[in-house]
Amino acid sequence: MSVESPLMNTYGRLPIALSHGRGCRVWDTEGREYLDALGGIAVNTLGHAHPKLVPALQDQIAKLIHCSNYYRVPLQEQLAAKLVELSGLARVFFCNSGLEANEAAIKIARKYGHDRGIDLPEIVVYERAFHGRSIATLSATGNPKVQKGFEPLVPGFVRVPLNDVAALEDVARSRPNVVAVFLETIQGEGGINPARVDYLQAVRRICDERGWLLMLDEVQCGIGRTGKWFAHQWADIKPDVMPLAKGLGSGVPVGAVVAGPKAADVLQQGNHGTTFGGNPLAMRAGLETLRIMEEEGLLDNAARVGAALKAGLERELAGVAGVADIRGQGLMIGVELDRPCGVLLQRALEAGLLVSVTADRVIRLVPPLIMTEGEASQVVEILCPLIKSFLAETPA
Ligand SMILES: *Cc1c(COP(=O)(O)O)cnc(C)c1O
Repeated sequence: MSVESPLMNTYGRLPIALSHGRGCRVWDTEGREYLDALGGIAVNTLGHAHPKLVPALQDQIAKLIHCSNYYRVPLQEQLAAKLVELSGLARVFFCNSGLEANEAAIKIARKYGHDRGIDLPEIVVYERAFHGRSIATLSATGNPKVQKGFEPLVPGFVRVPLNDVAALEDVARSRPNVVAVFLETIQGEGGINPARVDYLQAVRRICDERGWLLMLDEVQCGIGRTGKWFAHQWADIKPDVMPLAKGLGSGVPVGAVVAGPKAADVLQQGNHGTTFGGNPLAMRAGLETLRIMEEEGLLDNAARVGAALKAGLERELAGVAGVADIRGQGLMIGVELDRPCGVLLQRALEAGLLVSVTADRVIRLVPPLIMTEGEASQVVEILCPLIKSFLAETPA
Protein backbone atom coordinates (compact mmCIF):
# COMPACT_ATOMS: atom_id res chain seq x y z
CA MET A 1 0.00 0.00 0.00
CA SER A 2 1.31 3.42 -0.93
CA VAL A 3 1.79 5.43 2.24
CA GLU A 4 0.90 8.88 0.94
CA SER A 5 -2.29 8.34 -1.04
CA PRO A 6 -5.75 8.24 0.49
CA LEU A 7 -6.99 6.78 -2.83
CA MET A 8 -7.40 3.11 -3.64
CA ASN A 9 -4.69 1.98 -5.98
CA THR A 10 -7.01 1.28 -8.93
CA TYR A 11 -5.26 3.29 -11.65
CA GLY A 12 -1.73 3.53 -12.98
CA ARG A 13 -1.68 7.30 -13.26
CA LEU A 14 0.65 9.50 -15.27
CA PRO A 15 2.51 12.01 -13.06
CA ILE A 16 0.67 15.18 -14.03
CA ALA A 17 -2.55 16.87 -12.94
CA LEU A 18 -4.62 18.89 -15.40
CA SER A 19 -5.96 22.21 -14.22
CA HIS A 20 -7.98 23.62 -17.13
CA GLY A 21 -8.59 23.42 -20.84
CA ARG A 22 -9.88 25.28 -23.87
CA GLY A 23 -10.97 23.50 -27.03
CA CYS A 24 -8.49 20.67 -27.72
CA ARG A 25 -5.82 22.18 -25.44
CA VAL A 26 -5.31 21.45 -21.76
CA TRP A 27 -2.84 22.80 -19.22
CA ASP A 28 -1.39 21.07 -16.19
CA THR A 29 -0.85 22.54 -12.76
CA GLU A 30 2.75 23.40 -13.72
CA GLY A 31 1.50 25.45 -16.67
CA ARG A 32 2.57 22.97 -19.38
CA GLU A 33 0.30 22.79 -22.44
CA TYR A 34 -0.96 19.58 -24.10
CA LEU A 35 -2.85 18.75 -27.27
CA ASP A 36 -5.72 16.48 -26.23
CA ALA A 37 -6.17 13.53 -28.59
CA LEU A 38 -7.84 11.44 -25.88
CA GLY A 39 -10.77 13.65 -24.87
CA GLY A 40 -11.06 12.03 -21.43
CA ILE A 41 -11.46 8.67 -23.26
CA ALA A 42 -13.96 9.70 -25.95
CA VAL A 43 -15.95 11.77 -23.43
CA ASN A 44 -15.21 15.45 -24.11
CA THR A 45 -17.18 15.67 -27.36
CA LEU A 46 -17.07 19.47 -27.39
CA GLY A 47 -13.53 19.72 -26.03
CA HIS A 48 -12.93 21.76 -22.90
CA ALA A 49 -14.77 24.87 -21.69
CA HIS A 50 -16.93 25.09 -24.82
CA PRO A 51 -18.25 28.67 -24.97
CA LYS A 52 -21.84 27.52 -25.58
CA LEU A 53 -21.88 24.58 -23.17
CA VAL A 54 -20.43 26.41 -20.17
CA PRO A 55 -23.17 29.08 -19.81
CA ALA A 56 -25.91 26.50 -20.44
CA LEU A 57 -24.60 24.32 -17.60
CA GLN A 58 -24.17 27.35 -15.34
CA ASP A 59 -27.77 28.29 -16.04
CA GLN A 60 -28.98 24.77 -15.24
CA ILE A 61 -26.96 24.48 -12.02
CA ALA A 62 -28.52 27.72 -10.81
CA LYS A 63 -32.02 26.34 -11.53
CA LEU A 64 -32.14 22.64 -10.63
CA ILE A 65 -29.42 20.00 -10.45
CA HIS A 66 -31.35 17.02 -9.17
CA CYS A 67 -34.90 16.17 -8.18
CA SER A 68 -35.26 12.31 -8.42
CA ASN A 69 -37.49 10.30 -10.70
CA TYR A 70 -40.47 10.70 -8.35
CA TYR A 71 -41.47 13.52 -10.70
CA ARG A 72 -41.65 14.20 -14.40
CA VAL A 73 -38.38 15.63 -15.70
CA PRO A 74 -39.14 17.58 -18.88
CA LEU A 75 -35.46 17.71 -19.89
CA GLN A 76 -35.45 13.88 -19.81
CA GLU A 77 -38.40 13.79 -22.17
CA GLN A 78 -36.67 16.26 -24.50
CA LEU A 79 -33.35 14.40 -24.58
CA ALA A 80 -35.15 11.08 -25.05
CA ALA A 81 -37.15 12.52 -27.95
CA LYS A 82 -33.93 13.76 -29.53
CA LEU A 83 -32.20 10.37 -29.18
CA VAL A 84 -35.30 8.67 -30.61
CA GLU A 85 -35.23 11.07 -33.57
CA LEU A 86 -31.53 10.55 -34.25
CA SER A 87 -31.61 6.75 -33.87
CA GLY A 88 -35.02 5.88 -35.30
CA LEU A 89 -35.64 3.81 -32.15
CA ALA A 90 -38.53 4.17 -29.70
CA ARG A 91 -37.82 4.76 -26.00
CA VAL A 92 -34.97 5.66 -23.63
CA PHE A 93 -33.91 4.88 -20.06
CA PHE A 94 -31.34 7.25 -18.52
CA CYS A 95 -28.54 6.32 -16.15
CA ASN A 96 -25.08 7.67 -15.32
CA SER A 97 -22.38 5.61 -16.99
CA GLY A 98 -21.54 3.08 -19.66
CA LEU A 99 -21.66 0.05 -17.41
CA GLU A 100 -25.07 1.08 -16.10
CA ALA A 101 -26.41 1.42 -19.64
CA ASN A 102 -25.06 -2.06 -20.40
CA GLU A 103 -26.43 -3.45 -17.15
CA ALA A 104 -29.87 -2.15 -18.20
CA ALA A 105 -29.43 -3.75 -21.64
CA ILE A 106 -28.59 -7.10 -20.02
CA LYS A 107 -31.68 -6.82 -17.80
CA ILE A 108 -33.82 -6.02 -20.85
CA ALA A 109 -32.48 -9.10 -22.67
CA ARG A 110 -33.10 -11.38 -19.70
CA LYS A 111 -36.61 -10.06 -19.09
CA TYR A 112 -37.34 -10.30 -22.82
CA GLY A 113 -36.41 -13.98 -22.54
CA HIS A 114 -38.49 -14.55 -19.43
CA ASP A 115 -41.48 -12.84 -21.05
CA ARG A 116 -41.15 -15.41 -23.84
CA GLY A 117 -41.00 -18.37 -21.46
CA ILE A 118 -37.20 -18.84 -21.44
CA ASP A 119 -36.23 -19.24 -17.77
CA LEU A 120 -32.45 -19.31 -18.24
CA PRO A 121 -31.87 -16.88 -21.09
CA GLU A 122 -28.43 -16.60 -22.70
CA ILE A 123 -26.77 -13.61 -24.38
CA VAL A 124 -24.14 -13.92 -27.12
CA VAL A 125 -21.05 -11.81 -26.33
CA TYR A 126 -17.65 -11.39 -27.97
CA GLU A 127 -13.96 -12.07 -27.61
CA ARG A 128 -12.04 -8.87 -26.75
CA ALA A 129 -15.29 -7.04 -25.91
CA PHE A 130 -15.42 -4.46 -23.12
CA HIS A 131 -18.72 -3.64 -21.46
CA GLY A 132 -17.73 -2.32 -18.02
CA ARG A 133 -16.58 -3.25 -14.54
CA SER A 134 -19.72 -4.29 -12.65
CA ILE A 135 -20.02 -8.01 -11.99
CA ALA A 136 -22.49 -8.59 -14.85
CA THR A 137 -20.73 -6.33 -17.37
CA LEU A 138 -17.28 -7.73 -16.56
CA SER A 139 -18.76 -11.17 -17.12
CA ALA A 140 -19.91 -10.02 -20.57
CA THR A 141 -16.47 -8.51 -21.21
CA GLY A 142 -14.10 -10.67 -23.28
CA ASN A 143 -10.88 -9.92 -21.42
CA PRO A 144 -9.59 -12.33 -18.74
CA LYS A 145 -7.59 -9.50 -17.10
CA VAL A 146 -10.83 -7.64 -16.33
CA GLN A 147 -12.42 -10.79 -14.89
CA LYS A 148 -9.55 -12.29 -12.91
CA GLY A 149 -10.10 -12.22 -9.16
CA PHE A 150 -13.83 -11.53 -9.42
CA GLU A 151 -15.13 -15.00 -10.08
CA PRO A 152 -17.71 -16.49 -9.91
CA LEU A 153 -18.75 -14.76 -13.11
CA VAL A 154 -22.40 -14.16 -13.90
CA PRO A 155 -23.69 -17.07 -16.03
CA GLY A 156 -25.78 -16.74 -19.15
CA PHE A 157 -23.20 -15.48 -21.63
CA VAL A 158 -22.02 -17.41 -24.71
CA ARG A 159 -18.83 -16.07 -26.32
CA VAL A 160 -18.00 -15.94 -30.03
CA PRO A 161 -15.23 -14.32 -32.13
CA LEU A 162 -16.00 -11.03 -33.89
CA ASN A 163 -16.79 -10.93 -37.62
CA ASP A 164 -17.34 -14.72 -37.83
CA VAL A 165 -20.83 -15.40 -39.17
CA ALA A 166 -20.38 -19.18 -39.08
CA ALA A 167 -19.60 -19.08 -35.34
CA LEU A 168 -22.82 -17.16 -34.67
CA GLU A 169 -24.81 -19.56 -36.84
CA ASP A 170 -23.37 -22.46 -34.83
CA VAL A 171 -24.63 -20.81 -31.65
CA ALA A 172 -28.03 -20.30 -33.29
CA ARG A 173 -28.23 -24.05 -34.03
CA SER A 174 -26.92 -25.33 -30.71
CA ARG A 175 -28.20 -22.92 -28.00
CA PRO A 176 -32.00 -22.76 -27.77
CA ASN A 177 -31.96 -20.31 -24.83
CA VAL A 178 -30.21 -17.46 -26.62
CA VAL A 179 -32.29 -14.27 -26.56
CA ALA A 180 -29.86 -11.55 -27.66
CA VAL A 181 -26.56 -10.72 -29.37
CA PHE A 182 -24.53 -8.02 -27.60
CA LEU A 183 -21.55 -6.33 -29.23
CA GLU A 184 -19.72 -3.05 -29.67
CA THR A 185 -20.17 -1.74 -33.19
CA ILE A 186 -16.49 -0.82 -32.96
CA GLN A 187 -14.64 -2.42 -30.05
CA GLY A 188 -12.90 0.34 -28.10
CA GLU A 189 -10.87 -0.99 -25.17
CA GLY A 190 -10.27 -4.20 -27.14
CA GLY A 191 -8.11 -2.27 -29.62
CA ILE A 192 -10.39 -0.35 -32.05
CA ASN A 193 -11.73 -3.46 -33.79
CA PRO A 194 -14.69 -2.64 -36.06
CA ALA A 195 -17.48 -5.11 -36.72
CA ARG A 196 -17.55 -5.34 -40.52
CA VAL A 197 -20.59 -3.89 -42.31
CA ASP A 198 -21.50 -7.27 -43.84
CA TYR A 199 -21.10 -8.90 -40.42
CA LEU A 200 -23.46 -6.39 -38.77
CA GLN A 201 -25.99 -7.00 -41.54
CA ALA A 202 -25.70 -10.77 -41.08
CA VAL A 203 -26.17 -10.44 -37.30
CA ARG A 204 -29.26 -8.29 -37.89
CA ARG A 205 -30.67 -10.97 -40.23
CA ILE A 206 -29.94 -13.82 -37.78
CA CYS A 207 -31.52 -11.86 -34.90
CA ASP A 208 -34.64 -11.25 -37.01
CA GLU A 209 -34.89 -14.92 -38.01
CA ARG A 210 -34.52 -16.09 -34.40
CA GLY A 211 -36.48 -13.37 -32.61
CA TRP A 212 -33.31 -12.32 -30.75
CA LEU A 213 -32.53 -8.77 -29.68
CA LEU A 214 -29.60 -7.09 -31.40
CA MET A 215 -27.90 -4.98 -28.72
CA LEU A 216 -25.14 -2.65 -29.92
CA ASP A 217 -22.90 -1.12 -27.25
CA GLU A 218 -22.18 2.34 -28.65
CA VAL A 219 -20.89 3.73 -25.37
CA GLN A 220 -17.59 4.66 -27.03
CA CYS A 221 -18.26 4.72 -30.80
CA GLY A 222 -21.66 6.49 -30.67
CA ILE A 223 -22.61 10.20 -30.49
CA GLY A 224 -21.04 11.33 -33.74
CA ARG A 225 -17.57 9.95 -33.23
CA THR A 226 -17.43 8.00 -36.50
CA GLY A 227 -19.07 10.75 -38.57
CA LYS A 228 -22.61 9.43 -38.16
CA TRP A 229 -24.67 9.79 -34.99
CA PHE A 230 -24.26 6.08 -34.33
CA ALA A 231 -21.60 3.82 -35.82
CA HIS A 232 -24.10 1.14 -36.89
CA GLN A 233 -25.72 3.67 -39.24
CA TRP A 234 -22.79 3.05 -41.61
CA ALA A 235 -24.20 -0.50 -42.02
CA ASP A 236 -27.72 0.81 -42.62
CA ILE A 237 -29.19 -1.33 -39.85
CA LYS A 238 -30.94 -0.56 -36.57
CA PRO A 239 -30.32 -2.31 -33.26
CA ASP A 240 -33.09 -3.25 -30.84
CA VAL A 241 -31.13 -1.96 -27.86
CA MET A 242 -28.31 0.60 -27.83
CA PRO A 243 -26.40 1.60 -24.68
CA LEU A 244 -24.76 5.05 -24.83
CA ALA A 245 -22.67 7.07 -22.42
CA LYS A 246 -19.17 8.51 -22.86
CA GLY A 247 -19.66 11.37 -25.35
CA LEU A 248 -23.31 12.07 -24.61
CA GLY A 249 -22.80 14.70 -21.90
CA SER A 250 -19.50 16.10 -23.16
CA GLY A 251 -17.95 15.46 -19.74
CA VAL A 252 -21.00 15.46 -17.48
CA PRO A 253 -21.85 11.82 -16.65
CA VAL A 254 -24.86 10.68 -18.71
CA GLY A 255 -25.76 7.13 -19.66
CA ALA A 256 -28.70 6.01 -21.74
CA VAL A 257 -30.13 2.85 -23.15
CA VAL A 258 -32.16 3.45 -26.29
CA ALA A 259 -34.58 0.71 -27.36
CA GLY A 260 -36.49 -0.06 -30.53
CA PRO A 261 -40.08 -1.37 -30.66
CA LYS A 262 -39.12 -4.98 -29.77
CA ALA A 263 -37.45 -3.92 -26.53
CA ALA A 264 -38.94 -0.56 -25.57
CA ASP A 265 -41.69 -1.94 -23.32
CA VAL A 266 -39.85 -4.84 -21.72
CA LEU A 267 -39.02 -2.94 -18.52
CA GLN A 268 -42.08 -1.87 -16.57
CA GLN A 269 -42.65 -0.03 -13.28
CA GLY A 270 -40.60 -1.60 -10.51
CA ASN A 271 -38.24 -3.48 -12.86
CA HIS A 272 -35.42 -0.96 -12.95
CA GLY A 273 -34.36 2.44 -11.66
CA THR A 274 -31.58 4.71 -10.44
CA THR A 275 -31.41 7.66 -8.08
CA PHE A 276 -29.20 9.96 -10.13
CA GLY A 277 -30.11 8.83 -13.64
CA GLY A 278 -31.72 11.47 -15.83
CA ASN A 279 -31.19 14.38 -13.45
CA PRO A 280 -31.77 17.85 -14.92
CA LEU A 281 -28.06 18.78 -15.01
CA ALA A 282 -27.10 15.62 -16.91
CA MET A 283 -30.05 16.00 -19.28
CA ARG A 284 -29.21 19.61 -20.02
CA ALA A 285 -25.62 18.56 -20.76
CA GLY A 286 -26.88 15.90 -23.18
CA LEU A 287 -29.34 18.20 -24.90
CA GLU A 288 -26.84 21.03 -25.30
CA THR A 289 -24.14 18.63 -26.52
CA LEU A 290 -26.38 17.30 -29.29
CA ARG A 291 -27.67 20.76 -30.16
CA ILE A 292 -24.18 22.24 -30.41
CA MET A 293 -23.00 19.23 -32.45
CA GLU A 294 -25.75 19.95 -34.97
CA GLU A 295 -25.17 23.68 -34.95
CA GLU A 296 -21.44 23.27 -35.57
CA GLY A 297 -21.63 20.38 -38.04
CA LEU A 298 -19.51 18.13 -35.84
CA LEU A 299 -20.51 14.89 -37.58
CA ASP A 300 -19.03 16.16 -40.82
CA ASN A 301 -16.07 17.51 -38.89
CA ALA A 302 -15.43 14.14 -37.26
CA ALA A 303 -15.57 12.41 -40.65
CA ARG A 304 -13.35 14.98 -42.41
CA VAL A 305 -10.75 15.55 -39.67
CA GLY A 306 -10.75 11.83 -38.84
CA ALA A 307 -9.99 10.97 -42.48
CA ALA A 308 -7.20 13.57 -42.53
CA LEU A 309 -5.76 12.25 -39.27
CA LYS A 310 -5.80 8.66 -40.54
CA ALA A 311 -4.30 9.67 -43.89
CA GLY A 312 -1.55 11.59 -42.09
CA LEU A 313 -0.70 8.60 -39.91
CA GLU A 314 -0.72 6.29 -42.94
CA ARG A 315 1.57 8.63 -44.83
CA GLU A 316 4.09 9.12 -42.01
CA LEU A 317 4.11 5.47 -40.93
CA ALA A 318 4.09 3.90 -44.41
CA GLY A 319 6.61 1.06 -44.60
CA VAL A 320 7.68 1.43 -40.95
CA ALA A 321 8.50 -2.05 -39.64
CA GLY A 322 6.55 -2.75 -36.46
CA VAL A 323 3.42 -0.82 -37.43
CA ALA A 324 0.89 -3.64 -37.81
CA ASP A 325 -2.27 -1.71 -38.73
CA ILE A 326 -3.95 1.69 -38.75
CA ARG A 327 -7.73 1.41 -38.48
CA GLY A 328 -10.92 3.02 -37.30
CA GLN A 329 -13.49 5.46 -38.53
CA GLY A 330 -13.91 9.19 -38.05
CA LEU A 331 -12.27 10.33 -34.83
CA MET A 332 -11.87 6.81 -33.42
CA ILE A 333 -8.51 5.61 -34.66
CA GLY A 334 -6.14 2.87 -33.53
CA VAL A 335 -2.50 2.44 -34.53
CA GLU A 336 -1.55 -1.15 -33.78
CA LEU A 337 2.11 -2.00 -33.24
CA ASP A 338 3.59 -5.47 -33.21
CA ARG A 339 4.77 -5.12 -29.59
CA PRO A 340 3.48 -3.70 -26.28
CA CYS A 341 3.89 0.07 -26.29
CA GLY A 342 2.52 1.39 -22.99
CA VAL A 343 5.70 3.46 -22.55
CA LEU A 344 4.53 5.70 -25.39
CA LEU A 345 1.95 7.26 -23.05
CA GLN A 346 4.66 8.90 -20.98
CA ARG A 347 6.70 9.90 -24.04
CA ALA A 348 3.69 11.48 -25.73
CA LEU A 349 2.98 13.35 -22.51
CA GLU A 350 6.52 14.70 -22.42
CA ALA A 351 6.06 15.79 -26.04
CA GLY A 352 2.81 17.60 -25.14
CA LEU A 353 0.26 15.11 -26.46
CA LEU A 354 -2.48 13.16 -24.64
CA VAL A 355 -3.29 9.73 -26.13
CA SER A 356 -3.95 6.28 -24.70
CA VAL A 357 -2.69 2.77 -25.32
CA THR A 358 -5.24 -0.02 -25.17
CA ALA A 359 -5.02 -3.79 -25.61
CA ASP A 360 -1.26 -3.42 -24.82
CA ARG A 361 -0.20 -2.46 -28.34
CA VAL A 362 -2.81 -0.18 -29.85
CA ILE A 363 -2.34 3.59 -29.65
CA ARG A 364 -5.86 5.01 -29.43
CA LEU A 365 -6.89 8.44 -30.67
CA VAL A 366 -10.39 9.55 -29.64
CA PRO A 367 -10.10 13.35 -29.53
CA PRO A 368 -12.89 15.91 -29.10
CA LEU A 369 -15.09 16.12 -32.20
CA ILE A 370 -14.23 19.83 -32.53
CA MET A 371 -10.63 19.00 -33.49
CA THR A 372 -9.41 20.99 -36.51
CA GLU A 373 -7.36 19.65 -39.42
CA GLY A 374 -4.48 21.79 -38.19
CA GLU A 375 -4.62 20.13 -34.78
CA ALA A 376 -4.88 16.72 -36.44
CA SER A 377 -1.64 17.38 -38.35
CA GLN A 378 0.01 18.39 -35.07
CA VAL A 379 -1.04 15.03 -33.61
CA VAL A 380 0.63 13.31 -36.57
CA GLU A 381 3.76 15.49 -36.26
CA ILE A 382 4.18 14.74 -32.56
CA LEU A 383 3.15 11.08 -32.53
CA CYS A 384 4.80 9.56 -35.59
CA PRO A 385 8.44 10.36 -34.68
CA LEU A 386 7.77 8.95 -31.18
CA ILE A 387 6.42 5.73 -32.68
CA LYS A 388 9.40 5.43 -35.03
CA SER A 389 12.04 5.96 -32.36
CA PHE A 390 10.21 3.62 -29.99
CA LEU A 391 10.16 0.88 -32.63
CA ALA A 392 13.80 1.45 -33.57
CA GLU A 393 15.03 1.05 -29.99
CA THR A 394 12.63 -1.57 -28.61
CA PRO A 395 13.03 -5.26 -29.45
CA ALA A 396 9.90 -6.82 -30.94
C1 LIG B 1 -16.13 2.78 -21.47
C2 LIG B 1 -17.02 1.72 -21.97
C3 LIG B 1 -17.94 1.09 -21.13
C4 LIG B 1 -18.00 1.37 -19.64
O1 LIG B 1 -18.37 2.67 -19.40
P1 LIG B 1 -18.20 3.28 -17.91
O2 LIG B 1 -18.84 4.62 -18.01
O3 LIG B 1 -16.73 3.34 -17.65
O4 LIG B 1 -18.89 2.36 -16.98
C5 LIG B 1 -18.78 0.16 -21.68
N1 LIG B 1 -18.75 -0.15 -22.98
C6 LIG B 1 -17.88 0.45 -23.83
C7 LIG B 1 -17.90 0.08 -25.27
C8 LIG B 1 -16.98 1.38 -23.34
O5 LIG B 1 -16.08 1.94 -24.17
